[in-house]
Amino acid sequence: MNLPTFDIYGVNTPCYVIEEKYLKQNAELLKSVSDITGCKILLAQKAFSMYETYPLLSLYLAGTAASGLYEARLGRERFGGETHVYSPAYKDEDIRELIKYADHFVFNSIGQYNKHRDIVKDKVCGIRVNPRYSTQSGHEIYDPCAKGSRLGQTIAAFEQEAEEYGLEGITGLHFHTLCEQNSDALKITAEEVERQFGRFLPHMKWINFGGGHHITKEGYDIDTLCKTIEHFKQKYSLTVYLEPGEAVALNAGFLIASVIDVISGKADGERDIAILDASAACHMPDVLEMPYRPVVLDDKMNAAGEPDEKAYSYTLAGDTCLAGDTIGAYSFDRPLKAGDRLAFCDMAIYTMCKNNTFNGMPLPSIYYNTDSGINIIKRFGYEDFLSRV
Ligand SMILES: *Cc1c(COP(=O)(O)O)cnc(C)c1O
Repeated sequence: MNLPTFDIYGVNTPCYVIEEKYLKQNAELLKSVSDITGCKILLAQKAFSMYETYPLLSLYLAGTAASGLYEARLGRERFGGETHVYSPAYKDEDIRELIKYADHFVFNSIGQYNKHRDIVKDKVCGIRVNPRYSTQSGHEIYDPCAKGSRLGQTIAAFEQEAEEYGLEGITGLHFHTLCEQNSDALKITAEEVERQFGRFLPHMKWINFGGGHHITKEGYDIDTLCKTIEHFKQKYSLTVYLEPGEAVALNAGFLIASVIDVISGKADGERDIAILDASAACHMPDVLEMPYRPVVLDDKMNAAGEPDEKAYSYTLAGDTCLAGDTIGAYSFDRPLKAGDRLAFCDMAIYTMCKNNTFNGMPLPSIYYNTDSGINIIKRFGYEDFLSRV
């Protein structure tokens, strides 16, 4: 577990603090995969798009993957390298703009490509395919292989449209089916893609394995990842792309919150509640959406326990009016009181690019902790709320 290397009482809360040191460790590991295999690794900006870190990340990664116009523009203007874009459907006016920023276009179907083929004729174009081969369970919202998925073409649809439109101009295939998974899941997924789409691969120049690879998590099997990449490279002479989001900034940042008040549950025989200036609904939406339980550190950097594991248990909750705005139940060695600080771990990814001002909640400030010290990068105020409603 990565611990904060800064004073959690030295920042204004709520805030995200991103640590250059941890980001660099991730980036170095990712670069080692591209050095070994010759694959190209892109940052999927939907997970992490704090562009203050792009000058660093661009030293290690080949470029960015975007989900649409704004991310593509951000990638082109702030990161450089290759700019890839995928969208379930491109609007005509967006694709006219997009050609200024993106060099690789992934279409959701051969039909979509055909509709836009004239405007992207100088670009690298590919199709997102969907093997409908699910290797995950539990959170269907994050499973592109779920029944009825709109994300990519099945082999049946692909073959039908290949027949109808031909494949001229299409040089690559893209699949993205994983979420926080190890390379065993990638290996069997890639085998399934090969089984279904293999006859098209000799006509292709590249293949993109999407994201969801937990490469920088402890215990990830890098060797199997590399072998899977090598297989496609050697057998079909393909350039292999990976576009992880999560793995780039995994465990590289914290959300620091202050306790505002503690509500005693004693009279009702219930657990005490600590109300924080950070909200699950607004500042760590995946805690509710995924859902998951973040690791919490007290101000002595001790990890909070399960409820009742340590002496003092609390439900940690946000300062909004949403009844379900709770982060979870935790226990601590000492009682919590107003003014105490807590650190939520692994809060770089899917947080600042996903947060909101529901209930008029202030957006957390953003700090960047580097070799030369901790700096505040962004501070938000009433104007930011006003501009959105
Ligand atoms: C979400 C997404 C990614 C990144 O996924 P992570 O789980 O953050 O690695 C990459 N490519 C596509 C198409 C995605 O939708």
